[in-house]
Amino acid sequence: MTALNERPQTQIPPVQAPDFTPDTDPRDVIRWALAAHPDVLMPSAFNLNGVVLIDLAVQAGYRGEVVFVDTGFHFPETLATRDRLAARYPELTFVTLNAGAHPEDGQTAPDLYASDADACCAVRKVAPLQAYLRQKAPSALLNARSRDQASTRADIPFVEEGAARAKVNPLAHWSRERLEAYAKEHDLPVNPLYFDGFLSVGCWTCTRAVRPGEDARAGRWAGKGKTECGLWAGEGKL
Ligand code: SF4
Repeated sequence: MTALNERPQTQIPPVQAPDFTPDTDPRDVIRWALAAHPDVLMPSAFNLNGVVLIDLAVQAGYRGEVVFVDTGFHFPETLATRDRLAARYPELTFVTLNAGAHPEDGQTAPDLYASDADACCAVRKVAPLQAYLRQKAPSALLNARSRDQASTRADIPFVEEGAARAKVNPLAHWSRERLEAYAKEHDLPVNPLYFDGFLSVGCWTCTRAVRPGEDARAGRWAGKGKTECGLWAGEGKL
Protein backbone atom coordinates (compact mmCIF):
# COMPACT_ATOMS: atom_id res chain seq x y z
CA MET A 1 0.00 0.00 0.00
CA THR A 2 1.21 3.51 -0.79
CA ALA A 3 1.39 6.05 2.04
CA LEU A 4 -0.94 9.02 1.63
CA ASN A 5 1.88 11.48 0.99
CA GLU A 6 3.67 9.29 -1.49
CA ARG A 7 3.13 9.24 -5.22
CA PRO A 8 2.66 5.72 -6.60
CA GLN A 9 5.78 4.19 -8.14
CA THR A 10 5.12 3.45 -11.77
CA GLN A 11 7.20 1.79 -14.39
CA ILE A 12 8.66 4.61 -16.48
CA PRO A 13 8.92 3.75 -20.18
CA PRO A 14 12.45 4.60 -21.38
CA VAL A 15 12.79 7.83 -23.31
CA GLN A 16 15.26 7.36 -26.13
CA ALA A 17 18.30 9.59 -25.69
CA PRO A 18 19.95 11.12 -28.76
CA ASP A 19 23.20 9.68 -30.01
CA PHE A 20 25.46 11.57 -27.62
CA THR A 21 29.20 11.22 -28.15
CA PRO A 22 31.96 11.54 -25.54
CA ASP A 23 32.48 15.10 -26.79
CA THR A 24 28.86 16.12 -26.28
CA ASP A 25 28.61 19.24 -24.13
CA PRO A 26 27.17 18.24 -20.73
CA ARG A 27 24.73 21.14 -21.05
CA ASP A 28 23.22 19.47 -24.11
CA VAL A 29 22.75 16.29 -22.09
CA ILE A 30 21.08 18.31 -19.32
CA ARG A 31 18.84 20.13 -21.82
CA TRP A 32 17.75 16.78 -23.19
CA ALA A 33 17.07 15.55 -19.65
CA LEU A 34 14.97 18.61 -18.86
CA ALA A 35 12.90 18.09 -22.00
CA ALA A 36 12.51 14.33 -21.61
CA HIS A 37 12.11 14.37 -17.83
CA PRO A 38 10.72 17.74 -16.66
CA ASP A 39 10.48 16.36 -13.11
CA VAL A 40 14.19 15.47 -12.97
CA LEU A 41 15.86 15.89 -9.54
CA MET A 42 19.48 16.38 -8.57
CA PRO A 43 20.92 14.69 -5.47
CA SER A 44 24.30 16.10 -4.50
CA ALA A 45 27.09 15.68 -1.95
CA PHE A 46 28.81 18.86 -3.18
CA ASN A 47 32.04 17.25 -4.32
CA LEU A 48 33.98 18.78 -7.22
CA ASN A 49 31.82 16.93 -9.75
CA GLY A 50 28.66 18.00 -7.99
CA VAL A 51 29.61 21.65 -7.85
CA VAL A 52 30.44 21.67 -11.56
CA LEU A 53 27.19 19.90 -12.40
CA ILE A 54 25.15 22.44 -10.45
CA ASP A 55 26.72 25.30 -12.41
CA LEU A 56 26.27 23.60 -15.77
CA ALA A 57 22.69 22.63 -14.91
CA VAL A 58 21.77 26.21 -14.07
CA GLN A 59 23.25 27.34 -17.40
CA ALA A 60 21.18 24.68 -19.15
CA GLY A 61 18.00 25.86 -17.48
CA TYR A 62 17.60 23.59 -14.47
CA ARG A 63 15.53 25.29 -11.75
CA GLY A 64 14.69 22.34 -9.56
CA GLU A 65 15.91 20.88 -6.29
CA VAL A 66 19.39 19.98 -5.13
CA VAL A 67 18.92 17.26 -2.54
CA PHE A 68 21.55 16.59 0.11
CA VAL A 69 21.46 13.96 2.85
CA ASP A 70 22.80 15.03 6.23
CA THR A 71 24.25 11.89 7.81
CA GLY A 72 25.34 13.70 10.94
CA PHE A 73 28.97 12.92 10.12
CA HIS A 74 29.71 15.53 7.47
CA PHE A 75 32.72 17.80 7.65
CA PRO A 76 31.86 21.40 8.55
CA GLU A 77 33.52 22.36 5.26
CA THR A 78 30.96 20.30 3.34
CA LEU A 79 28.02 21.96 5.09
CA ALA A 80 29.61 25.35 4.45
CA THR A 81 30.01 24.46 0.76
CA ARG A 82 26.30 23.64 0.61
CA ASP A 83 25.49 27.02 2.13
CA ARG A 84 27.79 28.88 -0.27
CA LEU A 85 26.16 27.13 -3.22
CA ALA A 86 22.67 27.92 -1.93
CA ALA A 87 23.65 31.59 -1.73
CA ARG A 88 25.19 31.57 -5.20
CA TYR A 89 22.27 29.84 -6.93
CA PRO A 90 19.03 31.30 -5.54
CA GLU A 91 17.19 29.95 -8.58
CA LEU A 92 17.64 26.44 -7.18
CA THR A 93 15.98 24.93 -4.10
CA PHE A 94 18.46 23.30 -1.76
CA VAL A 95 16.83 20.53 0.28
CA THR A 96 18.61 18.89 3.23
CA LEU A 97 17.17 15.54 4.25
CA ASN A 98 17.74 14.22 7.75
CA ALA A 99 18.69 17.77 8.70
CA GLY A 100 20.32 18.06 12.08
CA ALA A 101 21.43 14.43 12.21
CA HIS A 102 24.10 13.82 14.81
CA PRO A 103 26.20 10.81 15.83
CA GLU A 104 24.33 10.69 19.15
CA ASP A 105 20.84 11.03 17.67
CA GLY A 106 19.86 7.41 18.26
CA GLN A 107 19.32 6.59 14.58
CA THR A 108 22.22 4.18 14.76
CA ALA A 109 24.88 3.29 17.29
CA PRO A 110 27.33 6.22 17.13
CA ASP A 111 30.15 3.91 16.00
CA LEU A 112 28.14 1.72 13.62
CA TYR A 113 30.22 3.10 10.76
CA ALA A 114 33.21 1.22 12.24
CA SER A 115 31.51 -2.13 12.76
CA ASP A 116 29.11 -2.20 9.80
CA ALA A 117 29.57 0.63 7.33
CA ASP A 118 27.00 -0.80 4.91
CA ALA A 119 24.33 -0.74 7.61
CA CYS A 120 25.30 2.77 8.66
CA CYS A 121 25.09 4.08 5.07
CA ALA A 122 21.80 2.25 4.56
CA VAL A 123 20.17 4.01 7.50
CA ARG A 124 21.82 7.40 7.42
CA LYS A 125 22.24 8.01 3.72
CA VAL A 126 20.30 5.66 1.45
CA ALA A 127 17.03 5.38 3.40
CA PRO A 128 16.33 9.13 3.69
CA LEU A 129 16.92 9.69 -0.01
CA GLN A 130 14.91 6.66 -1.05
CA ALA A 131 12.01 7.81 1.12
CA TYR A 132 12.16 11.27 -0.45
CA LEU A 133 12.23 9.81 -3.95
CA ARG A 134 9.25 7.59 -3.18
CA GLN A 135 7.40 10.74 -2.20
CA LYS A 136 8.51 12.85 -5.19
CA ALA A 137 8.69 9.99 -7.71
CA PRO A 138 10.87 11.80 -10.27
CA SER A 139 11.26 9.99 -13.57
CA ALA A 140 14.99 10.80 -13.67
CA LEU A 141 17.92 11.95 -11.56
CA LEU A 142 20.77 14.21 -12.58
CA ASN A 143 23.96 12.67 -11.28
CA ALA A 144 27.53 13.97 -11.23
CA ARG A 145 29.51 10.74 -11.46
CA SER A 146 32.31 10.55 -14.03
CA ARG A 147 34.24 7.66 -15.50
CA ASP A 148 37.65 8.58 -14.20
CA GLN A 149 36.60 8.79 -10.55
CA ALA A 150 37.13 5.07 -10.01
CA SER A 151 37.60 1.86 -11.98
CA THR A 152 34.11 0.83 -10.86
CA ARG A 153 32.71 3.85 -12.73
CA ALA A 154 34.73 3.39 -15.94
CA ASP A 155 31.72 2.50 -18.09
CA ILE A 156 29.14 5.03 -16.90
CA PRO A 157 26.97 6.12 -19.85
CA PHE A 158 25.26 9.48 -20.23
CA VAL A 159 21.90 7.86 -19.60
CA GLU A 160 21.16 4.77 -17.51
CA GLU A 161 17.62 3.49 -17.74
CA GLY A 162 16.14 1.89 -14.64
CA ALA A 163 12.85 0.36 -13.57
CA ALA A 164 11.71 3.36 -11.51
CA ARG A 165 13.73 6.17 -13.06
CA ALA A 166 16.56 7.04 -15.39
CA LYS A 167 19.91 8.35 -14.19
CA VAL A 168 21.43 11.04 -16.36
CA ASN A 169 25.19 11.50 -16.00
CA PRO A 170 26.20 14.61 -17.99
CA LEU A 171 29.80 14.55 -16.68
CA ALA A 172 30.41 10.90 -17.53
CA HIS A 173 33.24 11.77 -19.93
CA TRP A 174 34.83 14.72 -18.14
CA SER A 175 38.22 14.12 -16.59
CA ARG A 176 39.27 15.43 -13.21
CA GLU A 177 41.55 17.93 -14.95
CA ARG A 178 38.67 19.25 -17.01
CA LEU A 179 36.45 19.56 -13.94
CA GLU A 180 39.18 21.41 -12.05
CA ALA A 181 39.76 23.76 -14.99
CA TYR A 182 36.05 24.50 -15.27
CA ALA A 183 35.73 25.16 -11.53
CA LYS A 184 38.70 27.50 -11.63
CA GLU A 185 37.52 29.34 -14.73
CA HIS A 186 34.10 29.95 -13.18
CA ASP A 187 35.37 30.55 -9.65
CA LEU A 188 33.10 27.86 -8.23
CA PRO A 189 32.88 27.32 -4.45
CA VAL A 190 34.70 23.98 -4.30
CA ASN A 191 34.89 22.27 -0.91
CA PRO A 192 38.25 23.49 0.50
CA LEU A 193 39.04 19.94 1.61
CA TYR A 194 39.49 19.07 -2.06
CA PHE A 195 42.70 21.07 -2.13
CA ASP A 196 43.98 19.09 0.86
CA GLY A 197 43.69 15.85 -1.11
CA PHE A 198 40.11 14.93 -0.28
CA LEU A 199 39.20 14.37 -3.93
CA SER A 200 35.95 12.73 -2.88
CA VAL A 201 34.49 13.88 0.42
CA GLY A 202 32.01 11.86 2.42
CA CYS A 203 31.57 11.52 6.17
CA TRP A 204 34.60 12.47 8.24
CA THR A 205 34.51 9.04 9.85
CA CYS A 206 34.98 7.26 6.53
CA THR A 207 37.10 9.59 4.38
CA ARG A 208 40.82 10.21 4.16
CA ALA A 209 42.93 12.22 1.75
CA VAL A 210 43.92 10.48 -1.47
CA ARG A 211 47.56 9.49 -1.91
CA PRO A 212 49.56 10.10 -5.10
CA GLY A 213 48.58 7.64 -7.81
CA GLU A 214 45.31 6.61 -6.19
CA ASP A 215 41.98 7.18 -7.89
CA ALA A 216 39.73 9.97 -6.71
CA ARG A 217 37.57 7.75 -4.51
CA ALA A 218 40.36 5.75 -2.88
CA GLY A 219 39.95 7.76 0.32
CA ARG A 220 36.36 6.61 0.84
CA TRP A 221 35.99 3.69 3.30
CA ALA A 222 39.68 2.94 2.80
CA GLY A 223 40.62 -0.50 4.10
CA LYS A 224 36.99 -1.56 4.56
CA GLY A 225 36.48 -3.28 1.20
CA LYS A 226 33.68 -0.83 0.42
CA THR A 227 33.66 1.56 -2.52
CA GLU A 228 30.09 2.87 -2.76
CA CYS A 229 27.56 4.11 -0.23
CA GLY A 230 24.72 2.23 -1.89
CA LEU A 231 23.01 5.14 -3.64
CA TRP A 232 24.44 4.31 -7.05
CA ALA A 233 25.41 0.65 -6.81
CA GLY A 234 24.09 -2.42 -5.06
CA GLU A 235 20.61 -3.82 -4.42
CA GLY A 236 19.22 -0.62 -2.92
CA LYS A 237 20.55 1.73 -5.61
CA LEU A 238 18.39 4.61 -6.70
S1 SF4 B 1 29.93 7.18 5.07
FE1 SF4 B 1 30.42 6.25 7.09
S2 SF4 B 1 29.47 7.53 8.70
FE2 SF4 B 1 28.64 8.14 6.67
S3 SF4 B 1 26.72 7.03 6.53
FE3 SF4 B 1 28.28 5.75 5.50
S4 SF4 B 1 29.20 4.40 7.09
FE4 SF4 B 1 27.95 6.02 8.12
